[in-house]
Amino acid sequence: IEIVGAPIFNERSLLKGAVLVLYDITHLKKLELMRKDFVANVSHELKTPITSIKGFAETLLDGALDDKETLQNFLSIIHDESTRLQVLIEDLLTLSRLEKDEYKPVKSEINMNRLVEEVLPITNHAAEQKGISLTVEMDNNISLRADKERIKQIVINLLTNAVNYTPENGDVKLTVTDKDENIHIEVSDTGIGISQEAIPRIFERFYRVDKARSRNTGGTGLGLAIVKHIVEVHDGRITVESESNKGSTFHVYLPKI
Ligand code: ADP
Repeated sequence: IEIVGAPIFNERSLLKGAVLVLYDITHLKKLELMRKDFVANVSHELKTPITSIKGFAETLLDGALDDKETLQNFLSIIHDESTRLQVLIEDLLTLSRLEKDEYKPVKSEINMNRLVEEVLPITNHAAEQKGISLTVEMDNNISLRADKERIKQIVINLLTNAVNYTPENGDVKLTVTDKDENIHIEVSDTGIGISQEAIPRIFERFYRVDKARSRNTGGTGLGLAIVKHIVEVHDGRITVESESNKGSTFHVYLPKI
C-alpha cells in the first residue's frame, strides 16, 4: 500500500486534521514483478544456447577441427542450439504480437478438416518416432471463422506437447466436434500427466514442470502461453484435466463466428 497524506488547517491556520489517501498498489507491484521475471527468464533462455554455441565454436577454432568425428558432432550441436534460439525468438515475437491491446485476429472461413490434414504431417513424424499412435476423430464439414494460422498453431502446440510428454508406445487423440455455437477441440494423451498444483501454472510464460525434460524435447516453455492468448483473442476458452502418470486432456472451445 502506498500512502499520500496532507494536513488541513482551519481559518486561523491551526491544524484541523489531515487527509490520507491509501493506494492499493498490489496489482501494479505484481505486474512489475512479472515484467522483471520475464526479462530475467528471456535473458537466461537466450544465454544458454549462445554460451553453448560460442563454446563449441571456440573449441573448434582452437584445433578440434582436425578430428572429423568431433567436427561433425560439434557442428550438429551448434546447429541444434541455433534452431533453439530461432524457435525461442519466433515464440517471443508471436507472444508480443498477441499481447498488444489492439491485436485483433484476422478472421476467415476455416475448414477444420482441411486444417487438421495440414497439421498432421508435422506431428505424425514425431509420434511415429516414439511409436505413439496418433488418432483423429472429427465430424465432416466442421468450419468456423477465425485466424487460420493461429488456430493451426493451437492444434500443433497441443499435439506436440501431447507427444512430447507421453512415453513411447502411448496414445494421443485429437477430437474435433461441433458444439452448439462453439467448436470443441480436444487433445488427450496417455502421458506423464500434470500434478494438480502445477495445472494452474502451465499457461504462464516459461513455466515448466520439469525444465530438463522440456528443453530436451526442444520446448521453449512458451507453447501454452501462446495457445491461451490465441484462445482468448478469439473469445474462446481452454481447460485441462490431468492426472499424474495417467495422462492429460486439453479442451479448447472456440466460437464459430
Ligand atoms: P514447453 O515448451 O515446456 O512444452 P509449454 O508452454 O507448451 O512449454 O508447456 C508448459 C509445461 O506444461 C511443460 O513444460 C510441461 O511441464 C507441461 N505440459 C504441457 N503439456 C503437457 C502434457 N500434454 N502432458 C504433461 N505435461 C504437459
